[in-house]
Amino acid sequence: MRGRGSRDTGTLPAAFASRPVRTTMDVQAQRPPLLEVKRNIELKPSLVKHSSQLPLSASRLKRGPGQMEDASEPAKKRARGMAAVTKVDTSRPRGPLLSTVSQTQGHTAAQKGPKKTGPRGCSTVGTVLRNQKPAPAAPAQKPATSTAPVVGKRPGKRPAWDLKGQLCDLNEELKRYREKTQTLDQENRGLREQLREVQEQATTLGTERNTLEGELASVRTRAEQDQQRLETLSARVLELEECLGTTERLVQELQREQLQLQEERNTLSTQLEERERRFQAAEAALSSSQEEVVCLRQKTEAQVTLLAEQGDRLYGLEMERRRLHNQLQELKGNIRVFCRVRPVLAGESTPSPGFLVFPPGPAGPSDPPTRLSLSRSDDRRSTLTGAPAPSTRHDFSFDRVFPPGSKQEEVFEEISMLVQSALDGYPVCIFAYGQTGSGKTFTMEGGPRGDPQLEGLIPRAMRHLFSVAQEMSGQGWTYSFVASYVEIYNETVRDLLATGTRKGQGGECEIRRASPGSEELTVTNARYVPVSCEKEVEALLHLAHQNRAVARTAQNERSSRSHSVFQLQISGEHVARGLQCGAPLNLVDLAGSERLDPGIPLGPGERDRLRETQAINSSLSTLGLVIMALSNKESHVPYRNSKLTYLLQNSLGGSAKMLMFVNISPLEENVSESLNSLRFASKVNQCVIGTAQANKK
Ligand code: ADP
Ligand code: MG
Repeated sequence: MRGRGSRDTGTLPAAFASRPVRTTMDVQAQRPPLLEVKRNIELKPSLVKHSSQLPLSASRLKRGPGQMEDASEPAKKRARGMAAVTKVDTSRPRGPLLSTVSQTQGHTAAQKGPKKTGPRGCSTVGTVLRNQKPAPAAPAQKPATSTAPVVGKRPGKRPAWDLKGQLCDLNEELKRYREKTQTLDQENRGLREQLREVQEQATTLGTERNTLEGELASVRTRAEQDQQRLETLSARVLELEECLGTTERLVQELQREQLQLQEERNTLSTQLEERERRFQAAEAALSSSQEEVVCLRQKTEAQVTLLAEQGDRLYGLEMERRRLHNQLQELKGNIRVFCRVRPVLAGESTPSPGFLVFPPGPAGPSDPPTRLSLSRSDDRRSTLTGAPAPSTRHDFSFDRVFPPGSKQEEVFEEISMLVQSALDGYPVCIFAYGQTGSGKTFTMEGGPRGDPQLEGLIPRAMRHLFSVAQEMSGQGWTYSFVASYVEIYNETVRDLLATGTRKGQGGECEIRRASPGSEELTVTNARYVPVSCEKEVEALLHLAHQNRAVARTAQNERSSRSHSVFQLQISGEHVARGLQCGAPLNLVDLAGSERLDPGIPLGPGERDRLRETQAINSSLSTLGLVIMALSNKESHVPYRNSKLTYLLQNSLGGSAKMLMFVNISPLEENVSESLNSLRFASKVNQCVIGTAQANKK
């Protein structure tokens, strides 16, 4: 620290370093009056010494101090005078009592004095001189020089007897000394004054020095603090330099990144320009598209208006179509009978030619046949005459006759108009009538599964209904369909769609009104299944087939001995116009119409069969009677006489449309039953039921 302190001095601020530090030596050097004071002070003893060193006689020298009075008078006077001078010098001048010391001796003594008096007198002066500048060597001789004029002005040497003259000289000299003394006093006072001032200045300088030392100390403290700060700052500088290095590296990285970013920016700028161009092009396209949209909107509005008008027109046309369609159906007859003859199956004997003849229509062979001729030989007449039995020809005419080769598709085309009527809100009933094995089930349900060509009326009608309903939805009509399938055996109703535990059992089903006062009928415990597609209907037909198979017995082909009724409740609604329509479509596969041969005796097991047959015949007769009653517009229609007519009562009268297929076997052996069927069908065909009314609400 000390070393640093000394070094610190060298590092003092320039203002401070340049400031002179005044020392005592400097002060004395700058204050010569002080030296003069000291010199004057020291001069007095020297004067005294000089006086004491005045040359004395040898005798006097040998005497002691007490013998001085014994000296010669002049010597005594001289001694007195010297004593007086000495006193004057040390105190104050009293008079010219100086001894008569020769100037030469005095001068010589004065010159030799310093050597004899030893170093004391000179040592003080010398000490002062040594402590002063070399220059004061000359002022030390000043007393000699100051006395020189006195010596110089002294008149020539007076004779020894000229005491008066000597006295005068001494007085003169005394006077000069007095003047000199006054001058010296004045100088002394001035010097004292100067000394006082110097002391004050010294005090001031001391104070200043203390202040400066204090300042120096504080400066050193500050310097140390500054040094510490400097070190701290140096460390900080190092840190900052490291930081600077890191920052420079960072800057370089950032510059590299900046270059990359600039490149990216350039790329992006290019892309942006490209996109702006595209955007402008797109905007132009958009504006043109918007114009097109406006134009198209106007067109669309016009078309919407046109569409609404056309919708109204279409609705009117639809209503007109329905009206005309219904009129056409009425013209064709609300009760129509189609005759269908099944083909001869494998293993069956081919009938003789001419047994069944299908005469062409009025328009020729291309005209669909409506007539059928059946020839039957009369065995009884041939027996009586012995000649070959003549044949009797029976001609029948129906709305349409389908020869054995007719396809299912052709058959359906004829009834599709009736299905349309059902959608229009007219109840429709389609029957298949005929003896067992004549092709009723084939006509209604179809042949073996999997062959679409053999599909019967029910699946085709369903497909047609769903398709037309879909088309009608475009005109605002919404349709729903609910299917049920029951059989009536021995005047009991059984659900063919039963599932689970009721499956295959002849569960108790009753025909009831849906609600008191309602015209609508429903079968209790029977399933009514909503359907919307062919697959669902197909599944229902399959289920019905299974239920029939379960009920089959060895002795009795029950399906042939019962009526099966497939009912589809159609509900249509036109929300926009607040219209609703609903009608049932009934597809009925009637039980075999064959009669028991009365000539064959009945065994015990066949009594049940007789009862079945009677029930079937009764219900079929009732059906005929109901149709007759309706045709004749009788007040009482015997619907209740059979379950079948009771169930179908809403689909038989009034606005209902009915179609009966009379199925005929092509075999000669079945000719009797065929004739019975044809006669029954002919009676039905002659019936005309009043104008049908659509069930509109
Ligand atoms: P039904 O129901 O009147 O008792 P089916 O419909 O069961 O008579 O027909 C008896 C047989 O004759 C069945 O094997 C059936 O496939 C066949 N059949 C009926 N009609 C036709 C037809 N139009 N074409 C071909 N086969 C037929
Ligand atoms: Mg059948």
